[in-house]
Amino acid sequence: MIKETAAALGAKIAAGEITSVQATQAHLDRISEVDGRVHAFLHVDPEGALRAAAAIDARIANGEQLGPLAGVPIAVKDVIATKGMPTTAGSKILEGWRPPYDATLTTRLREAGLVILGKTNMDEFAMGSSTEYSAYGPTYNPWDLTRIPGGSGGGSAAALAAYEAPLSIGTDTGGSIRQPGAVTGTVGAKPTYGGTSRYGLIAFSSSLDTPGPCARTVEDTALLHSVIAGHDPMDSTSIPQPVPDVVGAARRGAAGDLSGVRIGLVREFTGEGAEPGVMSVFRDAVESLTKLGAEIVEISCPHFLYALPAYYLIAPSECSSNLARFDGVRFGLRVGDDGSRSLEEVMSVTREAGFGPEVKRRIIVGTYALSSGYYDAYYGQAQKVRTLITRDFTAAFEQVDVIVSPTTPFVAFPLGSRTSDPYQMYLADLYTIPTNLYGGPAISVPCGLSEGLPVGLQIMAPTMADDRMYRVGAAVESVVGTLTPPAL
Ligand code: GLN
Repeated sequence: MIKETAAALGAKIAAGEITSVQATQAHLDRISEVDGRVHAFLHVDPEGALRAAAAIDARIANGEQLGPLAGVPIAVKDVIATKGMPTTAGSKILEGWRPPYDATLTTRLREAGLVILGKTNMDEFAMGSSTEYSAYGPTYNPWDLTRIPGGSGGGSAAALAAYEAPLSIGTDTGGSIRQPGAVTGTVGAKPTYGGTSRYGLIAFSSSLDTPGPCARTVEDTALLHSVIAGHDPMDSTSIPQPVPDVVGAARRGAAGDLSGVRIGLVREFTGEGAEPGVMSVFRDAVESLTKLGAEIVEISCPHFLYALPAYYLIAPSECSSNLARFDGVRFGLRVGDDGSRSLEEVMSVTREAGFGPEVKRRIIVGTYALSSGYYDAYYGQAQKVRTLITRDFTAAFEQVDVIVSPTTPFVAFPLGSRTSDPYQMYLADLYTIPTNLYGGPAISVPCGLSEGLPVGLQIMAPTMADDRMYRVGAAVESVVGTLTPPAL
């Protein structure tokens, strides 16, 4: 049962062939069996999950017609508020915090009948590319337990690859859905910014943060996308437009016909800084797209190479402001409140104890970049580069329907190999960040193996054309198939 797709599980539950309680129990058993080694979860909620599953079973037994994912279990990244269930964002500063409300996304999952198994591990406040910056210890890649599962949403991707959940939720600020997807051989989609609600998502960089769906197949990812996407009045940047037909597009793409589709290859992504094995799998994937009828067009996006430095000013700047709320007064941890310290001192020692080194580094960089003497030189310049990158995308999408690249420059790297030099960690984001600065959608789908480890193909589309990336992604999947990790 644990290897089934979410679509198949949902269909069987709806037809009464299996119950949601059985599907949920099978995944809870799998979590007990393997999560001691994988550490995809920070919190598992067996009672809550089985209670929700039983309620769905009762509604189905009553003849109610529910959605295609009703009764299917799901894992949720620990940065999304879940009422009454711990939500830590991977940080000690939120240890023990149980939100008094659900994020819009959580509400939509519950309303669609999905069963929340628990909360997944992540880099602290979603800052990182390997899940090694979690305050609760790393997640291990099910393909090779000595390697990273990508980040920041490594738990959500590892849970899929280890068959602990058929679906999961991630968030993508600079690649945190797509990179874990790529290095665990699973699918991860970053929707158009504003296409999914940020209400109840613990903010990292508000102009970039985008929650999205993760699964083992493109169709499952699209089904979950259509559950969580759509306008939300609680989020002022939510787009009041209909959600593109991503499920229809995925099904159409699965037929493997891409005739008439123009696919852009970015000239400036020369492969410099990427592993030769990754580039060779990527080129083979592009070749197979031409066999499906797609036309390959070389495009120029001259500012993409400046995306990484611009992002590493904009994201820390926004985080330095967003994380000011963690002051020991409102949420979670409070240290040193013994009457001997002033309020400011309590805030200071709480933040010192509660934040990890990467979060502190970003707060310091961001505060500096926003300071009055340097604002124009750093933050202002980065915003200008962001505009140029958006113009590159706009010009490119006059020539092509989608743009492809590798998702990550390298396969899953060994744990500990990049933590000593933050810049080495940031390089993992080379291909994923331009899309976030522009605000468009992008998906990572498995496209083969290099050194026995998964490689992801990234497909980027224009804003609110999320359906296009699902069509091309499903076509790739029709050729490559799904990747199965070695048994744990
Ligand atoms: N790796 C990037 C960072 O560290 C992206 C993180 C994300 O998408 N949440 O900021």
